[in-house]
Amino acid sequence: MKVTDHIKKANGNTLFSFEIIPPVKGRSIQELYNNIDPLMEFEPPFIDVTTSREEYVYIDRDGLLDKKLTRMRPGTVGICASIKHKYDVDTVPHVLCGGFTKEETEYLLVDCHYLGIDNVMALRGDAMKEEKYFEPTKGGHPYAIDLIRQIQNLNCGEYLHEVVETDHCADFCIGAAGYPEKHLEAPSLKTDLKRLKEKVDAGADYVVTQMFFDNKKYFEFVKQARAIGIDVPIIPGIKPIAVKRHLQLLPPIFRIDLPQDLIDAVEACKDNKAVRQVGIEWAIEQSKELKAAGVPVLHYYSMGKSDNIKAIAKAVF
Ligand SMILES: Cc1cc2nc3c(=O)[nH]c(=O)nc-3n(C[C@H](O)[C@H](O)[C@H](O)COP(=O)(O)OP(=O)(O)OC[C@H]3O[C@@H](n4cnc5c(N)ncnc54)[C@H](O)[C@@H]3O)c2cc1C
Repeated sequence: MKVTDHIKKANGNTLFSFEIIPPVKGRSIQELYNNIDPLMEFEPPFIDVTTSREEYVYIDRDGLLDKKLTRMRPGTVGICASIKHKYDVDTVPHVLCGGFTKEETEYLLVDCHYLGIDNVMALRGDAMKEEKYFEPTKGGHPYAIDLIRQIQNLNCGEYLHEVVETDHCADFCIGAAGYPEKHLEAPSLKTDLKRLKEKVDAGADYVVTQMFFDNKKYFEFVKQARAIGIDVPIIPGIKPIAVKRHLQLLPPIFRIDLPQDLIDAVEACKDNKAVRQVGIEWAIEQSKELKAAGVPVLHYYSMGKSDNIKAIAKAVF
């Protein structure tokens, strides 16, 4: 079922959902299940599975370093299928421009269609570690909007190299990313919102936001988005702070601000156990206010660990 249909069916009630990352190559999928199991009591209608870009690794061959390009966390579509099968829940694979040719994307979408996956999150992806700026992959898309157009075409039976007349077209519901504090490369929030409007006009059915820690930023973002005609659901993304280092890591990676009260509370913690608790309490307050404001879904970035998300969901749902 489509994310947008889940939202309609909820009739104004806020839904719970979360995002997971595939395990590092070679690790057991059971680790993932162990973290999903405790969250199923909150009845997520859908679970997102991220896709990681390829990266360079250096392999020692008799003293010579061999530079190889590899994906450390492959398996997004396989994981989506296995979660869907095991828990009978919808899954949303993240599909990237970076690292994929248009053909590879087409094959991935065909796999998703055969597997009964009804939703995809269409993203550009970030620059590779070695790059300062995002470089489109040869034969791939430069922007998420181009990927959205490819998915929309496929929904109409228009493949890259042929048009197929069929009664069995894919009908993917498409998610796109939004940034309450603007995307790091965007010259202004206004320009970034214009780009988001273009993604929605191209076929994005809903938006999931980057993490934010001050709800005012989300409310203002939604207000500005509505003012320029973005009328699809805008799902807030929530990440609980979990370790002290997040104070230094999160702002430069995601170009977000942390409220001073949150910084002070984290800095006052003796250890990361205490930080985790501060993160939980902050996310509970954020979630309660967003829920009271009637957001369609509260979407949590779990980063592979569920104990804190469970504590938040218990207090909010
Ligand atoms: C909810 C969510 C989930 C994510 N999941 C993943 C994941 O699984 N894997 C991963 O690698 N990354 C993920 N990301 C990160 C994302 O890939 C990066 O933020 C990336 O830098 C931008 O992706 P986008 O889809 O927003 O890009 P775009 O919408 O293409 O925007 C990228 C930048 O280009 C600008 N822009 C857009 N269109 C144009 C145009 N036509 N001309 C000029 N400028 C333009 C935008 O304003 C923006 O600054 C996620 C982000 C979010 C918010």
